Amino acid sequence: MEDRTDEVAHRLGTDPRIVAVLVGAPWRRAPGSTEPVGDPSDPSAPDGPGIRGRVFVGVPSPSELRALDLPADGLRHFGLTPAELRAGGWTDADLRSAGLTPPGAGPVTVEWFVAGEPAQLMLGFTASGPPLLARPEPWWDGHEQALDPADTEEIPGLAACTDPEGEPGLQVQVVRDGLLRRARRRLVHCTICLGYVHRADTTHGACHDCAHRWLGVLY
Ligand SMILES: [Zn+2]
Repeated sequence: MEDRTDEVAHRLGTDPRIVAVLVGAPWRRAPGSTEPVGDPSDPSAPDGPGIRGRVFVGVPSPSELRALDLPADGLRHFGLTPAELRAGGWTDADLRSAGLTPPGAGPVTVEWFVAGEPAQLMLGFTASGPPLLARPEPWWDGHEQALDPADTEEIPGLAACTDPEGEPGLQVQVVRDGLLRRARRRLVHCTICLGYVHRADTTHGACHDCAHRWLGVLY
């Protein structure tokens, strides 16, 4: 595993030791790291007639969804578009945090790094805008493992941080801890080697290495 912590620290304008204290280390490049954030199935649907002025009662905020451990983009599945969520009070930052593209905006290209074994935290850079933290959600793209960022949050306090104990640094750690809690709730033990594995990465309860070696599963 190639340690990219120095590069991450350089891009944040801070010191690798501060990166380690705030968000962990070492960092490696995420597989397929230039995946655009945003919802490719909903390319910037413009505000249509009839959207403006509509009031949505009871649309939960992203933080309320996170507290319930529900995916922030889940409201899409109830037929709510980003434009409707914005009409219901979601800000463009809320929409981006939920992995949705704000109406009228193009998808943002993010370069992602990942920490933890198994992966538990993602750190993203965009051409402009604050650094991002997210929880990795693994999936298999053919034979290649890919990681999708979930619960993405903008973390301005992580850029140029000089004091991990200062207020911005403490806010970073609160976000980090919330993401790690949710990431670890998705980890289980491999029933064969007993190592931690993301539950999306198991076959009959076994990690992919064990499923291949002991169960003869071919990937
Ligand atoms: Zn195993």
